[in-house]
Amino acid sequence: MVNVIIFGPPGSGKGTQSEKLIEKYNFDHISTGDILRAEIKAETDLGKKASQFINNGELVPDNIIIEMLEKKLNTLNNSKGVIFDGFPRTTDQAAALKEMLKKHNEKIDIMLNLEVENQELIDRLLKRGETSGRSDDNLETIKKRISVYESQTSPVIDFYKNEGCYRGIKGVGSIDDIFSRISEAIDKCQN
Ligand code: UDP
Ligand code: MG
Repeated sequence: MVNVIIFGPPGSGKGTQSEKLIEKYNFDHISTGDILRAEIKAETDLGKKASQFINNGELVPDNIIIEMLEKKLNTLNNSKGVIFDGFPRTTDQAAALKEMLKKHNEKIDIMLNLEVENQELIDRLLKRGETSGRSDDNLETIKKRISVYESQTSPVIDFYKNEGCYRGIKGVGSIDDIFSRISEAIDKCQN
């Protein structure tokens, strides 16, 4: 099994690149953001709790996210690998993921950090906001999400540098060029 974290600030292309990875490698995909949006749409208790945080550009608390992730992880079987998209977002979540995987004799094989400058992120997210219908794709919330990323999420980079599986990926250029960089990194770590 190959376990991949696709990491990066909001608008860095995690979802787009995950779709291409699924197609090429048949990995399972866990996007905590997508799960949360589905819960909101279904108006569940979890969705109701999460929507306040999401609309403000804040993180949904660790305990909620970790429990949700563990449930999702337990539904997978005979997986070729998992792409974790948008998770972990804090070092506590990263530590919890490590423990969860350890129980299944698994670990994170590679953490891919999509590197994109802030102005490019803002431009991309505003453009996405024209059609996404997402409550958090507006300028005010985008700025908040980027600052939350910098203060709470970027420390996760050092966590995986310490684990020895960190890879920085230039996240600008054509979607296919970025995908080539990602594929190359994954193929190398599989051997
Ligand atoms: N979110 C969260 N924890 C997660 C995933 C998502 O708190 O593990 C919330 C957070 O408010 C975030 C929003 O959901 O700003 C959207 O997350 P998603 O990963 O979909 O957005 P992206 O960063 O990819 O634009
Ligand atoms: Mg996303």
